[in-house]
Amino acid sequence: MAHRVLIVGGVAGGASCAARLRRLDETLEILVFDRGPHVSFANCGLPYFVGNVIADERTLLVASRELFRDRFNIDVHTRHDVVAIDRERKTIQVRDLASGTERVERYHTLVLSPGAAPIRPPMPGIDLPGIFAVRTIPDSVRIRSWIDERKPAHALVVGGGFIGLEMAENLAHRGLGITVLEKLPQVMPPLDPEMAEPVRAHLAARGVDVRLGDGLVRFEAAGDEIVAVTESGARIRAGLVILAIGVRPETGLAVAAGLPLGPRGGILVDEQMRTGDPNVFAVGDAVEVRDVVTGQEVVLPLAGPANRQGRVAADAICGRTSRFRGVQATAVVGVFGLTVASTGASEKGLRRAGVTAFERVYLHPGHHAGYYPGAKPIHLKLLFEVPGGRILGAQAVGLEGVEKRIDVIATAIQMRGTVRDLAEAELCYAPQFGGAKDPVNLAGMIAVNHLDGDMPLAEWTRLDVEDCLVVDVRDPDEFAAGHVPRAVNVPLGELRRRYAKLPRNRPLALCCGVGQRAYYAVRFLAQQGFSVANLSGGYETYRALCAAGVIPTPVTPR
Ligand code: FAD
Repeated sequence: MAHRVLIVGGVAGGASCAARLRRLDETLEILVFDRGPHVSFANCGLPYFVGNVIADERTLLVASRELFRDRFNIDVHTRHDVVAIDRERKTIQVRDLASGTERVERYHTLVLSPGAAPIRPPMPGIDLPGIFAVRTIPDSVRIRSWIDERKPAHALVVGGGFIGLEMAENLAHRGLGITVLEKLPQVMPPLDPEMAEPVRAHLAARGVDVRLGDGLVRFEAAGDEIVAVTESGARIRAGLVILAIGVRPETGLAVAAGLPLGPRGGILVDEQMRTGDPNVFAVGDAVEVRDVVTGQEVVLPLAGPANRQGRVAADAICGRTSRFRGVQATAVVGVFGLTVASTGASEKGLRRAGVTAFERVYLHPGHHAGYYPGAKPIHLKLLFEVPGGRILGAQAVGLEGVEKRIDVIATAIQMRGTVRDLAEAELCYAPQFGGAKDPVNLAGMIAVNHLDGDMPLAEWTRLDVEDCLVVDVRDPDEFAAGHVPRAVNVPLGELRRRYAKLPRNRPLALCCGVGQRAYYAVRFLAQQGFSVANLSGGYETYRALCAAGVIPTPVTPR
């Protein structure tokens, strides 16, 4: 009798597991069940389908039932809900949603890839018409129809994470005015606040009404529209509401079958994606995996890990020794032309995990050589271990070339690289693509300069605490346009003439526009015997830290 593998959920993790199984073993009997009308569809494309950037629904269908049957001899059952698992008998109970009938299917091996469901908080008015979440093609078809038929003028997007912001962009593309309501004091929660600040500013500049630090309390019907009432008492009127406040792993089936969950509420699996039962595997958004940077267990709903886990599970089922290495949360999102990307841990994530021996550098280099027309700044933050220099994470925001830098750093993290590897990395260079010192090299070099004591980094958040003198080495007109409170201005070009008047009994914190001129000043002053450090990222970073509320001190008014 053929070994029978049943797979619950036929999208990212389930479909990749099924296809890999077939590539490895022609003798397996493989059946996939999905309660939805499609398998292997592009959930990541759904916001763009709503925005009509992807106009044809069929484009979202990566593979069909027929393709699975004809190309891979895989038996796909859509509109089939798996309602129970009997691990002793090794069977599942399946409900055919078209006929309403139920049947029992036996397995030798079961793979769960049920994904994660959008969170719908139980609050008054949550079931009013016009309030949507985005998970499936039918969800996005309903949103499109609502827009086409009702022609709402304004949409409320609840949640400022990546799905919320993609939906905001796409609804704006459809001509709707947008309010984004986010309970946290920042958009893009995976980022540190000062890195999310340019994203907020960009949204505001595109006319999006961004409300931070305010949560939803209830919805009320108001004629054809909905009023969202918030904790602050604000009443936001909208003809369409998108709930994008996160997802919850679909663990109901696993829990009912007695499979253990992990501390973060995902299905517990080993490195080969095996659950507490050796005959049951689980992959994707529903499982809990190890974060390779912090070592902590996490639930990370992203397509890349789901696909890789599906592959690992298939390998394991076929007797191979592949292991899932863990996740590092590499992600990217486009927001009204801005690219926002991150990999590894954020500063707040490190603190949550109890990691304290780390440093950070900020830089704002152009995405390609400055002398070639059109260079756009990339705002980059790199976190690394001290004193060892292991790379812990990076975040970047900019108009061009952002994801390329984060992908390079992501690869270095996966190889357990250090900032010295970034400094040495040999990357593509021609004027229209990068710099002879790429932003990735520069980030590594700045970090190495700190580790080697050539350019110690000053702590922005400790300026008020430590008795240091901020020396701003920009030109007087730049200084006059805004500077750190109590800073003195000694332009770099005058430093060699004027340095003798600087105090030798206080540490000096050097500041400039983005950190480069301050670096030259640090090197000069250090060799004259001063105690010096660089305020990483310069005044550009200072403004973002102030705007995000990380530094309470306001920018000196002029
Ligand atoms: P899913 O792909 O969600 O598949 C689970 C399937 O299982 C579903 O079809 C469900 O109907 C079915 N199912 C569940 N329970 C049962 C049951 N009992 N019986 C039968 N069928 C069942 N990730 C990125 O990395 N980049 C992106 O840009 C990105 N954009 C996204 C945009 C949106 C709008 C959404 C919703 C997600 C996005 N994601 C993105 C996340 C990514 O899609 C998921 O991480 C990935 O699809 C998870 O794969 P999965 O196999 O675990 O679950």
